[in-house]
Amino acid sequence: MTSRPPPAEPKRPTIYQEAMEVFHRAADLIGLDRRVRMELEEPDYEHIFYVTVKLHTRLTPLTQAAEVQKYSDLTDSELLPDGLEPLLDGSFVFKRRALIGARLQMRDGVVRLKGKGLYKVVPGRPERFKAYRVQHNQARGPYKGGIRYHQDVSLDLFKVLAAEMTWKTAIADVPFGGAKGGIKVDPKSLSSEELEALTLRYMYRLKPLIGPTLDIPAPDVGTDASIMGLLLRQFTDGERERHALRGVVTGKDTRIGGSEGRVKATGQGLAYCIQEWFADRGTTPAGSTFVLQGFGNVGSNAAEILTGLGAKLLAVNDAGGTIYNPGGIDVLDLIAYVYDNPANMRKTVAGYPKAQQIGKSDLWDVECDICIPAALGGEITGPVAERLKCKLVAEGANGPTTAEGDRVLEKRGIEMIPDIIANAGGVTVSYYEWIQNKRMEHWSETEVNGRLEQALKSNYRIIRDISRNTPRRTATHNSTRYCIGKEVDMRTAAMVLALKRIEAHYQLEGFSQ
Ligand code: NAD
Repeated sequence: MTSRPPPAEPKRPTIYQEAMEVFHRAADLIGLDRRVRMELEEPDYEHIFYVTVKLHTRLTPLTQAAEVQKYSDLTDSELLPDGLEPLLDGSFVFKRRALIGARLQMRDGVVRLKGKGLYKVVPGRPERFKAYRVQHNQARGPYKGGIRYHQDVSLDLFKVLAAEMTWKTAIADVPFGGAKGGIKVDPKSLSSEELEALTLRYMYRLKPLIGPTLDIPAPDVGTDASIMGLLLRQFTDGERERHALRGVVTGKDTRIGGSEGRVKATGQGLAYCIQEWFADRGTTPAGSTFVLQGFGNVGSNAAEILTGLGAKLLAVNDAGGTIYNPGGIDVLDLIAYVYDNPANMRKTVAGYPKAQQIGKSDLWDVECDICIPAALGGEITGPVAERLKCKLVAEGANGPTTAEGDRVLEKRGIEMIPDIIANAGGVTVSYYEWIQNKRMEHWSETEVNGRLEQALKSNYRIIRDISRNTPRRTATHNSTRYCIGKEVDMRTAAMVLALKRIEAHYQLEGFSQ
């Protein structure tokens, strides 16, 4: 008798499959057309390519005790400090001018830098980086989505983020589809020149795939307005009508076609949603308390705006550490500590002197009204959701709550403003930037914020009406087309709105064969 093979372990769902759970739930609820469902289930295009860059010579610190001992007799070398660019991983990028007037003592490629310690010289070499652009759907308009530089990216992650952009642009009701891309790299391990070279080379490869009416990138984790400037230059260099191409990327500096209000837009949009959550209860954020994960673009701007509305920030966690002050944290002072302080190279809240330093997981135990995750995805897991002591989770980050986290929050009666509306401010103002570029206009911040407030609050109200099944037509919004005859949670309600708006394009335009 042959023995049976042991039953195969059930396959864990991929992060894409997990993220698509809510899509399938909402699609089932509204009886989404089968073919539309197939169009949306997988991305239109998944581009993976490689980018090579020449890395400079580096001096990397010797850390192993035996090696340090071996070179204990090596005397100090003196190099022109201007020729050594410090990197966050503790190494230095070596520029040739470092040798001007240098006094050099080297053995086996090891030098002792005066006052710094022993370093190994690693000669410059070309390096290959994996790059991505996932274009999920363009039923409603050109693909749109950020560029992420991070060491932990993958095709599956970019598929999740690209699909999220399809839902988000539909919910924000801007005429775009969804995309996302980036490079598997820790940008902090590169010098500024290397980062520039990598960015230019990435756009060189990307150029056939994107364009101002085809696919429009924007900043995301690890990229910013200066990277957008480089992408713009590489895309438009040598083009005959290059000014007409300015809308190929959004999130640019305001001096080169960026929109006023874009830098703060995601944090601002989050604050508008939170304001609307309070308004629904007949109150305002004044006097409320919140905790924050991530003190980058989204987190720091949301914190500044919310404290401006009278809310109090109690604790912040970022990649470097966690701080807590039950009396409230002065957000402007913390911004100065993190961003205007050259000694704070990691740009972290860790070590902020006017707060206690606590453990990362202690953040979730802080009693408050609002918890704002504004860092990476997957942070509010089931166990974290069990610990939270807040009334509302407002998702600044993309996908910060896992499916299990969602179920626990629902069970515990903790309310939710889901990411696809809560952080849609960025893409909404990106759309304003794109229009301004097209029209060669420049709007004031007041005009931008006025439009943003109206757009986000009315779409938020539609989602709330879908969630409570209260179809209404008011002066500011009309949810009659979208309610589905029963109550659903806010995340499902947001997806219902997205799918109904996308489905309309397929229904009214039909399919080309
Ligand atoms: P950012 O790079 O400016 O800041 C990221 C922050 O997260 C930093 O404070 C960093 O220290 C922190 N962080 C990183 N890893 C962490 C970890 N393991 N634990 C705790 N903190 C960690 O990025 P950003 O632009 O503020 O984006 C934050 C989130 O918001 C991302 O999920 C992004 O996709 C999303 N988002 C951003 C925008 C935008 O306009 N910038 C728009 C929509 C969504």
